[in-house]
Amino acid sequence: MKKLICFLFPLFLFSLLMQPKISFAQAKVLKAAIIIDDFGGCTGGVEKFLDGDIRITAAVMPFTDHSTEHAKWAHKNGFEVMIHLPMQPIKGKRSWLGPKPITVDLSPKEVKEIVYEAIKNVPFAKGLNNHMGSLAVTNEEIVRAIVEVAKEKNLFIVDSGTSPNSKFPEISTELGVPLLKRDVFLDDISSPTHVRRQMERLAKITELKGKGLAIGHVGIKGDACSTGVFQSMEMLKNRNIKIVPVSELLAQDLMKKNILP
Ligand SMILES: [Zn+2]
Repeated sequence: MKKLICFLFPLFLFSLLMQPKISFAQAKVLKAAIIIDDFGGCTGGVEKFLDGDIRITAAVMPFTDHSTEHAKWAHKNGFEVMIHLPMQPIKGKRSWLGPKPITVDLSPKEVKEIVYEAIKNVPFAKGLNNHMGSLAVTNEEIVRAIVEVAKEKNLFIVDSGTSPNSKFPEISTELGVPLLKRDVFLDDISSPTHVRRQMERLAKITELKGKGLAIGHVGIKGDACSTGVFQSMEMLKNRNIKIVPVSELLAQDLMKKNILP
């Protein structure tokens, strides 16, 4: 009996000591999401991201040669997929928009048709965000048409933040469509050093707000973004920040709202 107590007591003490530590560590894990834009159209870091082990969310441009292929590839390897909807900017070349962009001369019906088609072209999509769009996102009729389809098809929306006057937040709230706004652009300057600096910003925002959302790009040719992101994973790990799909950030928001009215 004595022997048994001698054996069990340290075990009991050990489990008692370990338990608070484990739950404390679990409670402290913060979540951030990284959306990588321009899959389907660009080639830069496609393979590095889609065959890599960072849980990025892949935003795929519809109607390009590789749209469906990249969406399927991402899904097969366990990455969340979004539609990266090309929308008319105030300035910029028409060619930057790719095929079938949402432009302000379209009727709401035409806008909806493009979004329905994009959903078919980019399978497995859980949400959508805008590619460019500094002009089109400020147009209430256009944005309403997009958000109405998102509501009908159960898609969440991420406002890429290309205009301070975007109608996405207002109309998504009105129609009850889950929405997140981009906090950080990772690669507005295309160098791994800059991307690492922006990843630090993402970490800081995540620590301050309890969540963070960054957007980077596949890249036209080089892979500055993927290099910078991969090099930053150790830093995130040390700060107890986990990269999760965008839908997981939204679920966390929903839980908080239900717990704290
Ligand atoms: Zn884009």
